[in-house]
Amino acid sequence: MTHVITDPCIAVCDTACVEVCPVDCIHPTKEEWSDDYKASLEKKQLYINPEECIDCGACVPECPVEAIYPDDTLPDDQEHQIAINEEYYN
Ligand code: SF4
Ligand code: SF4
Repeated sequence: MTHVITDPCIAVCDTACVEVCPVDCIHPTKEEWSDDYKASLEKKQLYINPEECIDCGACVPECPVEAIYPDDTLPDDQEHQIAINEEYYN
């Protein structure tokens, strides 16, 4: 199991989740944002590395737009984000 970041993160990207993740598995962090990334933030989101997430749940209550779910409780219309989060790390 892993946690997954979903569509509501797009354009928000406030990185509140990054601050609390004990294993630093949420990227890109602000330090990793390229100039291109910053210039198109309205289309961007963050991603959880499914290989590193320990399912602690610490990020969930930090998200101001409730974008983070355990993969087994994802809303039906957010199932596509499992692959999207995973692909970011491939
Ligand atoms: S559930 Fe825990 S380990 Fe997984 S992304 Fe959130 S804070 Fe990080
Ligand atoms: S806290 Fe929520 S909105 Fe902010 S970067 Fe993380 S997933 Fe995106």
